[in-house]
This record gives sequence, structure tokens and C-alpha cells, in this order.
Amino acid sequence: MVTATTLQADILRHLSFTVGKDPQNATLFDWRMALSHACRDRIMEPWFAATRRTWAEDRKRVYYLSMEFLIGRLLEDATINLGLHEEAEAAMRALGQDFRDVVGDEPDAALGNGGLGRLAACFMESMATLGCPSYGYGIRYEHGLFRQSFNAGRQIEAPETWLDHPHPWEFDRPEAQYVIPFKGHVETRNGAAVWVPGESVFAQAHDTPVIGWQARWANTLRLWSARPTDPFDLERFNHGDYTAAAQPETLARTLSRVLYPDDTTYQGKELRLKQEYFLTSAALQDILRRYLQSHADLRALPKHVAIQMNDTHPAIAGAELIRLLVDDHRMEFREALHIAQRCLGYTNHTLLPEALERWSTYTFGTVLPRHMQIVEQIDGWHLEEHRARPHYVGIVKHHEVRMGELAFITSHRVNGVSALHTDLVRKNLFPELNALHPDRIINQTNGVTPRRWLKMCNPALSGLITDTIGSGWEADLDRLKALEPHVTDPAFLRAFGEAKRTNKVRLAAWLQRTTGVVVDPDALFDVQVKRIHEYKRQLLNILETVARWKAIRENPDAGWVPRVKIFAGKSAPGYAVAKEIIHLINDVAAVVNNDPVTGDLLKVVYPANYNVSMAERLVPAADLSEQISTAGKEASGTGNMKFMINGAPTIGTLDGANVEILQEVGADNFFLFGLTAEEVVKRREDPEHARHAIEASQPLLDVLQMIAEGRFSPDEPERYHQLVHRVWNHDYFLVASDFDSYIQAQGEVDRAFSDRDRWLKMAALNTARSGYFSSDRTIRGYMNDIWDIDPAI
Ligand SMILES: *Cc1c(COP(=O)(O)O)cnc(C)c1O
Repeated sequence: MVTATTLQADILRHLSFTVGKDPQNATLFDWRMALSHACRDRIMEPWFAATRRTWAEDRKRVYYLSMEFLIGRLLEDATINLGLHEEAEAAMRALGQDFRDVVGDEPDAALGNGGLGRLAACFMESMATLGCPSYGYGIRYEHGLFRQSFNAGRQIEAPETWLDHPHPWEFDRPEAQYVIPFKGHVETRNGAAVWVPGESVFAQAHDTPVIGWQARWANTLRLWSARPTDPFDLERFNHGDYTAAAQPETLARTLSRVLYPDDTTYQGKELRLKQEYFLTSAALQDILRRYLQSHADLRALPKHVAIQMNDTHPAIAGAELIRLLVDDHRMEFREALHIAQRCLGYTNHTLLPEALERWSTYTFGTVLPRHMQIVEQIDGWHLEEHRARPHYVGIVKHHEVRMGELAFITSHRVNGVSALHTDLVRKNLFPELNALHPDRIINQTNGVTPRRWLKMCNPALSGLITDTIGSGWEADLDRLKALEPHVTDPAFLRAFGEAKRTNKVRLAAWLQRTTGVVVDPDALFDVQVKRIHEYKRQLLNILETVARWKAIRENPDAGWVPRVKIFAGKSAPGYAVAKEIIHLINDVAAVVNNDPVTGDLLKVVYPANYNVSMAERLVPAADLSEQISTAGKEASGTGNMKFMINGAPTIGTLDGANVEILQEVGADNFFLFGLTAEEVVKRREDPEHARHAIEASQPLLDVLQMIAEGRFSPDEPERYHQLVHRVWNHDYFLVASDFDSYIQAQGEVDRAFSDRDRWLKMAALNTARSGYFSSDRTIRGYMNDIWDIDPAI
């Protein structure tokens, strides 16, 4: 039984013996380390127990391969899942420390770009909660996603340094080390292929325990760092050539140095391909080693091993597994392929053509010469099996290796991440392969973990939920349905409104500290936070903001609902159009926030450096969730789910999981606007679609005119000429066509918000009907439909 007192003793013990500090002069960092170790101690027993049981019962394991894990902070999450949150707060208080400051001292582990990496982190937590024996495999990037700041409104990138200080959650595993070969050539010896690599690195493991809800199970996140296989060149060093002596080291370390900061495009860079193979080969060697510790027959591998590829980044896994089985274990190619297929599953995350990885056969064949042969063999086999396969379908086409096709053909299941997305994967992305393999593509709509995204980030609302329907909803989110009868109870609605207001007051204070902008907590907090991308249409939102500003100025006494427009998000460093949108938002903010006419009726804030911790702050305080992508472009979204769970109705298009959110919450509690995915395609048939839409909309004409005239860039009036020109002439994402419909929906939002009871009821119904979007539901789906695995608890 852990009490605040025993925890306090543990913290002091760790402060002395682990951190080596006297409480008298311990810093915030020291206290955080001491508390982290005291909590970490309590993860060990469930972690070992889970591992022992998995071995003892010879359970099937899931291996989740992902180039990204957007984890965020771990300390508070650990206290929540260990059931120690109150004790930890009390212990820190007794020690004269502020728990929130201690928790806030932890840097975010930002080993991902956005939704895809955050999904991997939510899945790890849900697998631990459900007792699904699993390992997450990723790369231990020295530098995660860059740190964003603004200089005169422009995005500036700085390296991120989460490993500057000791990271208390990981354990180095120097004994878990594998050679990862690259390049060279392939020889034939005794009729067998032998890869003679040209270079190699070691992959070394670092393990982080992932503790589930109530500490009933724990799994491992195993991240790999690269080290040189060539020892340090002592001879050169002794001769004074220090730089040359360190060269093997420099080469190896670049492999796990940085996360590529593009989330929807790939550059075809050799280093990226090497990183992908580095992760995949290390994982597969580790998987086979573990399997062979207790089994002799590799033909039974699919009974014991399920491998999930998070997007195409680890899509080399099929070819690598076949290589290991054929070259190292002398298996016949077809048998190896069959085994690989039954082990592997592939999750598709995007339809955007620029995001679908394709490597030139030159790059691929140079870096991975043996895999080039195997990929061609797989392609040849597939064509032989499916003579009806159209000539333009295949893995290797036009001197490129297509990783989507490779992943598809080497997997037994391919899943999309929302109902609409899966439909489009079948119809538009892989129509021919789907016809040949009609049962392979299935849907698994994304989810988010309610422990982090409700219990932890929103104590005000989770307290109210527990007071109203009891506990248990944390691991059974469908129970939120029990809130529904309460949404007609004025006392409940009042309490719901107070919880939201508490969060808004906290956010307002933080916004003032970080951006200097003072906002009214009673205004409508209208939030769009996510990566900046043309398809996500932050531009549509800021154009509406300008239209609103103009309308308020023209008629300030028209009973406007005060609004705070909150933007946050990073752009890929090389994505010029996205960076221009960031600049415009900041320019509009500078003008609007200093306008005495509009005053508190409209504010625009853009806190820099969006990450998981910032999301945990913004989501609980949102009144309105902006999910306004061009229909057909957002595969699922998970931000949309976080907002719904926390009681923010959505203004959105029929895109990704918005479709299912609308279905669950009902049309009365969702602000729908815009063209459907089908209408979008139709609309583009008119080459003048933007011109026609703009000419039909006086508000849009006015807004574009103001921006073009330099109203928001008086120091450089031409700054946005290009941007305005693009809206008129190259509006691929249909900002103009959806503008009027969006303005109208925003008007509906104003009307709904002015009726406080109506609004609170909508907000509460969003929470009550959000149970479907728990990642526990998603993981159960993967366990049943893809992995064929039973929970251990
Ligand atoms: C949830 C989350 C995302 C994904 O947001 P979308 O709106 O689905 O794109 C991206 N970044 C962070 C930090 C998140 O927490």
C-alpha cells in the first residue's frame, strides 16, 4: 500500500542516493528525477510479471514497428496509471515542491511529427492497459521534432534537445545489439545468395516500460540507437589526427541523430532509407532471436508473432524477414514469403500522392542490394500467382520501388484508419490489388487513450464524470453514455460549464504568459491545432477571421459573440506555402489584437512550439474544435477525437473520422459544412472553380482584397500577393469553394453559443457519446481482426 508518506520517503531516498543531492539545495530537476525514480520503481514489478507470464504461457506477441513515437511527457502519466497521482501531489507538497512545476519540468519526448506518431504512443498505452503482450520498436532520435519559435511572425526552427539531461524512463541494454549491414554486393555461393555488405553499424537497444491503467500489465518500448562497428581509430588518434579518428563514430551516429521533420512528404534521401532499414532490421533480428529462445521451428512463427507496420516506413519488413529466413535459416523462398505474409500487417495512413514512399531502384539497390533481388522475386511471384494483374500494377515500376505495394503484397491485412479513408484506400489507392485480394483491406478507426486525453489532462471534467457516473469509465469509455440522462439536469450542466471555465481560465493565464495576449475566459475559444498543411486549411480559418474582423468593425454593436481564435502547429521546414500561412496568421493577429474597435470581441493567438504537452493544455479548454480539411484528404485525425471527448463540438467537413464523430454525436451537435469527398472531385473538373466561387462571394472578395492590399503587412504590402494569387488560380484544396459554407456554419456556432444551456448540452453530449474513440476499442479491433491475439488479463 503506497501512501503519500511512503512515497515521500522514497523520493528523499532517491534524491540522496540516485540523484546525489541534499534536499537543501536540490533543484526542480533534481526533485523531478527523485519523483520519477520513486514512481519508476513501482513499474518494475508489473513489468517483470508481465514478461514472465508471456514467457511462461508462451503467448503470442505484437511487434509495433514505427518510425515515430510522439510520447510527450511520462511522469504524470505514470502516476495516473499507477494510481499514485494524489499521493504524488501530496508528497511533493509535503516536501515544499509544486507538483505541477515538477511535472512541467520534463521535456517532451517528441520522437514524431504529429498524428501518426501520437497514434503509436496511444496504441502502446492501450496495449498495456488491455494486457496485449507487445513491443514497440522505434528509433531513439537524439533530436526529435525541431523546436519552433517566431521571429516577426515567421517560423524559426531550432534543434530539440530532449536528451540534454538524463532521461529517467529508459534502460540501456548494451547486451541487445545487432549488426545492421548496408550497401556492398551480393555473391552466389553454393547456389545461395550471400550479401557482402559495404558498411555496417550496430543497433543498440534502449527500453522504456509502458505501464497500463491500474498497473495491471506493462510492455516495452524498445528504441534503437546507432553505434559504430569499427572501433575508434586509436592509431590515428595517437598520431594527432583527431577528426579522422572519430570518423566511423560520426558516420554511425548520423543514423539515429534526427527525426525527419516532414509528415506528409518524403524526400527520397538515402539517409532516410537507411534509418528505415536500421529500425526494421534491428527489430526483426530481435524478434527472431526471442522466438528462437523458446522455439525451434520457424514455420510456426505466425502463431507466435504479429508484426504491424505503421505506414510504409518499415515496409521493408517483408523483404527483410524473407532475407533472414532464406539466407540465414535456409528456408525456401515461397515458404518464407508465406510466413512473412501471415506475420505482417500494414496500416495505411494517407492517400496524398506525395506521401507515398517510392525509392528509385538506384538508391534502393545501392543501399540494400540483396533486398532489391528479393523485392523483384516477390513481385515476380505475385504476378505469377495473379496472371490477371494489370501491367501497370506491381512493386517495381518505372525504375521505382513502391513501398505501399510492397507492404500490401507482403501482408495478410491492410487497414485504413477511418471508415471513409478505408473506402478510399479500396477504391482509389489500391483498386487492382483490392480486386485480387478482396478480404485483405479492412478498417480500424483510430482512437486516443482516455487516460492521457481525459483523466490526466482534464482533472476538472474527469472529476465531474466520476462524481456523476462513478469510476470505471477510464478503461471502458462507452460508459460515458451514462452521462446522457444528466444533460437535461441544470445542476449537471452548470457543473460541466464550470469545469470548462476552470480550464479556460488556466489557459488564458498561460496564453498571457507565453504570448502576451490577454483573452477573456468567457469568450468562445475556437481552436485549430495540428500540423500546418494546405489540406488542413488553416488558411480557410484565417480568412474567416479576417471576414469576421471586418464585419465586427462595420457593426460593432451587433451583439457579437466574443471569440478567441487559437492556432498552434509546426510547418515542415521546407514547406514554403505552409510557412507563409503561419506568417499570415501572425500578421493578422498583430493587427486584430491591437484594434480598439473590435477589442475583446476578437483575439487571435498563436503560441509557438505545439507539442503533446501543449495539446494537453489546449484541448480541455476548447469550446470549438476546428476540423476543416478538404474532404477526402485527412485520413482520420485524432485531434478531432481528443476535442470531442473533452466536450468541444466540432465545426468540420465530412472527412476522416469526422464522419464517424458526426454519426455518434448526431447532426444537432456538430457544425457540418463544405463539399463532400465526391463533390470535391467533381468541383475540380471546373478549371475556374476558385474564380467562380470568389466572384460569387462578396465577403471572400473583400477579404482577399484586404490581404492583397497589405492591410496586415503594412511594412511590405506585396507580401501576400503570391498567396492571394494562388487562391484565385491554384486553389487545389478548395478554400474558395467552401468559404461561404464555412462562414455560415460559423454563424450557427455563434447562435448556438449565445444560448448557454443549448451549448452546454451540446458540449456534454459530445463527451457522453465519445466512447467509440478510445484507442482501447481500436486495439481490440487490431487484436481480433489482424493479430489474432487474446488479452492476457
Ligand atoms: C493529437 C496530436 C496530433 C494530431 O492532430 P490532428 O488534428 O489529428 O492532425 C498532432 N500533434 C500533436 C502534438 C497531437 O497531440
